[in-house]
Amino acid sequence: MLGPVILAASRSDKMRRLVSAAPVTKQVVDRFIPGETVDAVVPIVQEAVASGLELTMDVVGEDITTPEQAAAARDAYLALIDRLKVLGHGTKAEMSVKLSMFGQALENGHELALANVRPVVEAAAAIGTTVTLDAEDHTTLDSMFAIHEELRKDFPQTGCVIQSYLFRTEDDARRLAAAGSRVRLVKGAYKEPASVAYQDKADIDKAYVRVLRILMEGDGYPMVGSHDPRLVAIAQELAHRAGRKLDDYEFQMLYGIRSDEHHRLAAEGHRMRVYTAYGTDWYGYFMRRLAEKPANLLFFFRSMLTK
Ligand code: FAD
Repeated sequence: MLGPVILAASRSDKMRRLVSAAPVTKQVVDRFIPGETVDAVVPIVQEAVASGLELTMDVVGEDITTPEQAAAARDAYLALIDRLKVLGHGTKAEMSVKLSMFGQALENGHELALANVRPVVEAAAAIGTTVTLDAEDHTTLDSMFAIHEELRKDFPQTGCVIQSYLFRTEDDARRLAAAGSRVRLVKGAYKEPASVAYQDKADIDKAYVRVLRILMEGDGYPMVGSHDPRLVAIAQELAHRAGRKLDDYEFQMLYGIRSDEHHRLAAEGHRMRVYTAYGTDWYGYFMRRLAEKPANLLFFFRSMLTK
C-alpha cells in the first residue's frame, strides 16, 4: 500500500528538498549508496572483486534539466572508467546508465542521450567491459530500445533492462532473445498505470517467470535481476533445463540488499554482479529502495527520531 505513495513522492521536488535536508539521511542512505565520490566507492569495488563478486556501477542522478548536466553525467562515467582502468578492474565492473541522466527528456533528447552515452560505451569497451541501459518509466522505453539497437551495431555487448510488470515485456523479451542480446530482467521499480502494467505482485511474479523462460531458451545472455529467493531458484532450474552452463547467465542484486545471498551464489560458482550506485544525487534511487520494502521506511523514520 505504501509503495505507490513513496514512488509518487520520488518525483516530487518538494519531497526531494525535505528528504535530502533531513538530519537522518546519511546513515540510512549509506545502506544502499555506499559513497558520493569515485574515491569513496573504489574500496567497495576492490572488496567486492576480492571476494569473487562482479559489479555494475551506477552514477546516480536523473531528472536533469540542462544539456550541461547531461554532459556532466557522461563525464562522471568517463572518470569512473578511467579509474577502473588504473585499478585493473575493467573486466569485473560494467556500467549501468539511465538515459534520462544523459538528456533523454530534454529537447532532441533521443539524439542527445545517444550522443552522450556513445563515448561511455566506447570507453567501457576499451577497458574490456560494457554498459547496460537501465529501464526507466514506460514512456522512455521505445527510445531506450532504439538507442540499445543503435549501440549494438558497433558494440554488440551493450545490454538493456526489461521489466516484468509491463504488459509489453514478453514481446520485448522475444525480440531481444532472438537478437542475442545481454538482457537484465527485473520486476520494475516505477509507478506505472494499470493500462500498461500488472498491479498485483502475484501477476508480476508470474510474468517474471514467463519472461525468464523466454530469455533462458533464447540466444542471448540473461541477467537475472532479483532478490526474490523463489525466482532465483526458478532461474537456476530454467537455466539448467535450457542447457545453459553457469557462465551462460548471471545473477544481479543491489548493493545493500541480501548481501549474504550475493556471496552464497558466488560461492556456488554463479556469476553474481552487484549493482552499486554512488554519487550525490541519490534521492530518486533511494526512494525506489524505500518503496520496494516499506519496512525500510520504518528504519528511515526511526533514525530521524534518534538523531
Ligand atoms: P521483491 O519481491 O521486491 O523482493 C524480494 C525480497 O528481496 C524481499 O522480500 C526483501 O527481502 C528483499 N528486498 C527487495 N527489495 C528490497 C529493498 N529495497 N530493501 C530491502 N530488502 C529488499 N528496476 C527498474 O525499473 N529498472 C531497472 O533498470 C532496474 N535495475 C535493477 C538492477 C538490479 C541488479 C536489480 C536487482 C534490480 C533492479 N531494478 C530495476 C529494481 C527492480 O525492478 C525491483 O524493484 C527490485 O529488484 C525489487 O524486486 P525483487 O525482484 O528483488 O523482488
